[in-house]
Amino acid sequence: MDIDGNISSVNRGALELLGYNSINLIGESILNFTPTASGKDFKDVFKELLSEGTLKDRKIQLYDVKGQLRNLKASFTLLKDTKERPIGIISIFTDIKELAALEKEILELQEFSQNIVENAGVGIVATDLKGKIIFASKGTRNIFKKASNRLKGENIIKNLGDPIALNEKFTSLVDKGKSFEYELDVKDGNIGESFLTVFTPLRDGVGKVSGTIVVFKNISKLKEVEEQLKESNSILKNYSLDLERLVDTTRTLGAQLDAKKIYKTLSEVIRKTIDSDVIFFLKYSEKGFTLDFSDGIKAKSLKKEISKKEFQRFLSTIKDSRIVSPVNKEKSFPPRVVDKNFTSSVFIPLYAKNEIFGLIALFFKGERRFMRKELEFLQSLGSSTVMALENARLYGEIREFANELEEKVKERTKDLSIANEELEQSNRLKDLFIDIMRHDLLNPIMIARNTTELVMESEKDPTLKNFLTKVHKINDRTIKMIENASTLARLESGSNIEFDLADLGTVISNAVEDLSNLAEERNIKIKTNLKGEFPALVNPLIYDVFSNLISNAIKYGTDNTDIAVGIVENGSKWRVSVADRGEGIADEHKKAVFERFTRVQKGAVKGSGLGLAIVKKVVDAHSGKVWVEDNPGGGSIFNVVIPKA
Ligand code: ADP
Repeated sequence: MDIDGNISSVNRGALELLGYNSINLIGESILNFTPTASGKDFKDVFKELLSEGTLKDRKIQLYDVKGQLRNLKASFTLLKDTKERPIGIISIFTDIKELAALEKEILELQEFSQNIVENAGVGIVATDLKGKIIFASKGTRNIFKKASNRLKGENIIKNLGDPIALNEKFTSLVDKGKSFEYELDVKDGNIGESFLTVFTPLRDGVGKVSGTIVVFKNISKLKEVEEQLKESNSILKNYSLDLERLVDTTRTLGAQLDAKKIYKTLSEVIRKTIDSDVIFFLKYSEKGFTLDFSDGIKAKSLKKEISKKEFQRFLSTIKDSRIVSPVNKEKSFPPRVVDKNFTSSVFIPLYAKNEIFGLIALFFKGERRFMRKELEFLQSLGSSTVMALENARLYGEIREFANELEEKVKERTKDLSIANEELEQSNRLKDLFIDIMRHDLLNPIMIARNTTELVMESEKDPTLKNFLTKVHKINDRTIKMIENASTLARLESGSNIEFDLADLGTVISNAVEDLSNLAEERNIKIKTNLKGEFPALVNPLIYDVFSNLISNAIKYGTDNTDIAVGIVENGSKWRVSVADRGEGIADEHKKAVFERFTRVQKGAVKGSGLGLAIVKKVVDAHSGKVWVEDNPGGGSIFNVVIPKA
């Protein structure tokens, strides 16, 4: 503008601010764009400007292109020529609204950060190189006990504790730019506050240390938490100590199998940890509560049995450990048990499988406070005791049972030894009988048989001769019977028999040979298949096996038929079979014929029913097997299996 206010030039900012084109403005007077009242202001401004040269932050009003009045802030500068004569005015406008908004925003931001700083318990101080405070935030009030504005000009080091140590650090901060921190405790009456103080260098544009910034952070809360942590840590440590003790005690208690020892351990632990003057252990039974154990008071002064009814009411009031102090307040606890000297007590009910088991009662002479932890400890101790007592009881029962068992075993052994003796006795009798049979019975009969034979041969009278022949036959049969009976008896008595290597084929051939006459009488042919060698470890009794089977085959066979005797190899064994063409043996008798005195078809055949029993016994003694099966074309096949040698 010229000095009268005629616009000669506008920049783009002015055009954008008011919305005009330069054509609208250039050559026009500024007064045309302002209300009449404001025009007067402009005139005053121009006058003032001529004397002052510059004017700042003047409020003016201008119409924009839409005809709206805009409040603007303006600054004016007088343009002069080389001879210092005024030639024009430069004016710079700013929209107040925008400016105000911006200022407000900055203010808010400032306030916000201030708030953060204050609320975070942070105080900030800036100093020069000598430590002179040039700025102090509001938060420093709590530290220096004076308003922050009054701190300006004071020396920070002198205002903090321990100036000597601080001075040294401060010097190194200024000289070497080395930051440092230290903890500052400030006391205000009873309340102590701790601040973590950090000194950092303040550097200028070229990085030179030009001062310091000190930040104070309130760490009292942190310290408090730290303290709490420490405390809870020590509680935890104590607790784990208690746990350890509990585990130890439980182990000690568990190792006891005697109720008395368990009570002793319990009372020792309670004395050590809880320091009670008297301990009772009341145990529940069908009758009521019995004082099972007491320590610290003469049992005589206590009523030994407390009736169930008397106690029920008291118990119904406690499910968990209960502290009673003073004791006489506990009306429901049978007073006879309680001595007048006690002031405090704890009752710990004990349960086993949810059933009341008993009660631990502790009495204290003095006033006593309990921690929850102690009660928990007692409760656990009680549970361990219950467990230990139950174990002890079970152990007792088992021991009793074991004792009973031992008694029974002893009695049995006695019975057994009697039976053994009896057995031995009967065995001896059997042996004696065998001996009697073999010598005292067999010998005279042999003599009778031989004598009969002699007489028989020379006898001429046919009736007498016939009679003698019958006697001879009876004698023969009796001898055979005695021999068989004695063999069976010997085998049954378990007497050991000896084995020798022999050829089964030879043994069988001999038996066949010896029975050939008998077979001929019936016109029965014995066909053998015994080629080869059949070695086996056998006792001479094995001859009787085959002799018996072949003689049976003849006895129970049919006249004019064949008997087949053969040996075949069967793995590690020999199998001997004797097949006849008799009537055979029905299935239901196939097993029974091997038992003593079993005779299926007596008919005209004379027998004792001992033969097959002896066969079985002898075969068994050779670890072999014998059985009978049907002969496909009629008759029976007796099989004997004997291990190969
Ligand atoms: P015993 O021949 O002296 O009667 P055993 O013990 O030798 O006694 O035989 C028992 C019974 O088995 C005989 O009474 C007979 O009934 C039956 N038995 C034995 N061998 C044969 C056979 N080969 N055929 C049919 N029955 C037989």
